[in-house]
Amino acid sequence: MIPPNSLDAILEAFRSATSFILTAHINPDGDAVGSMLALRRLLLQWGKEEIHCVLSNVAPEECQWLPDVERIVGPDVPLPSADWLIMLDASRRTRLGAVADKLHPSMPMITIDHHADDAPHGDIVLVDPSYGACGEIIAELYQQAGLVPDYEAALCLYVAIITDTGSFQFPNTSARTHRLVADLLAAGVDAGEVSGRVFHTMSRGRFTLMVRVLQRLQISGDGRIAWSEVFPGDFNETGARPEDLNNLINYGRDIDGVEVAVLFRSIDPTTTKISLRARPSFNAIPVAAYFDGGGHPGAAGATLNMSLGEARRAILTRIQDYMGETT
Ligand code: AMP
Ligand code: MN
Ligand code: MN
Repeated sequence: MIPPNSLDAILEAFRSATSFILTAHINPDGDAVGSMLALRRLLLQWGKEEIHCVLSNVAPEECQWLPDVERIVGPDVPLPSADWLIMLDASRRTRLGAVADKLHPSMPMITIDHHADDAPHGDIVLVDPSYGACGEIIAELYQQAGLVPDYEAALCLYVAIITDTGSFQFPNTSARTHRLVADLLAAGVDAGEVSGRVFHTMSRGRFTLMVRVLQRLQISGDGRIAWSEVFPGDFNETGARPEDLNNLINYGRDIDGVEVAVLFRSIDPTTTKISLRARPSFNAIPVAAYFDGGGHPGAAGATLNMSLGEARRAILTRIQDYMGETT
């Protein structure tokens, strides 16, 4: 008997299928893109030919060099139906952005994710927050299938894992993370070269945006909360792209005494996206979940139907309430 929702259950589902659509969350990061491209290679290695990769937005700059990234299509390209839809690094259809509306609603779905979620969507659901990255689950899928990732797949998995573990600095890094990564290095991945490309290369636009966000940083009177703001005009004026904001707010969280940092990004006058980054003393999930978002204890997010000012008041109040309850 194959245990339900296991690596074996996923492989069993792959066995008899011929066509697949792979997708991942809106505003994809290195884990979303790396996991998708590595799973695509696993399926190819297994002799599957019909594999479509689709994302609601273009892959971020730090992933643009990954092998076959150009094969990922956007939500405007018509998609066929497939034997399986595979949702990566996300556990609800609502996280897929514009892609969600393009998918045949009755297509069976396999969900592979590491975000905590008590009601994930999908017919086969492997959602396990003990993994530091979705890429770790894909690396285990290779092992379970008896396959060895080729150099290109190893690169994609390595990028997935270093992005989500902050190069093994975040508390989601485990012995398993390092064991899986050891195999990727053995497959030829050059750690120095990859981190140079992923973490230490930025456009001038991104740098200018970073300066703006850091200059706008504010700290609450008690020193426990830091926040900053971004407006639509910042992108035109600096030439930066929205994904250039990824993890910029981590600097706020790093300030002595700060337990949680928030970036408020105004999308339009009635929509604001928030990014939360917290130290282990503060759990960001309940704050994000209160506003229908989610994530991890140390990094969570949500999109609010509010102006930036309203979102700022609502979120800061919520955080202060939680701090009051837990101290
Ligand atoms: P971000 O601040 O956008 O980098 O997101 C931090 C973490 O929270 C990531 O793991 C995201 O996948 C997750 N996250 C962000 N926004 C949402 C949302 N609206 N719903 C669920 N998870 C989210
Ligand atoms: Mn992700
Ligand atoms: Mn992830």
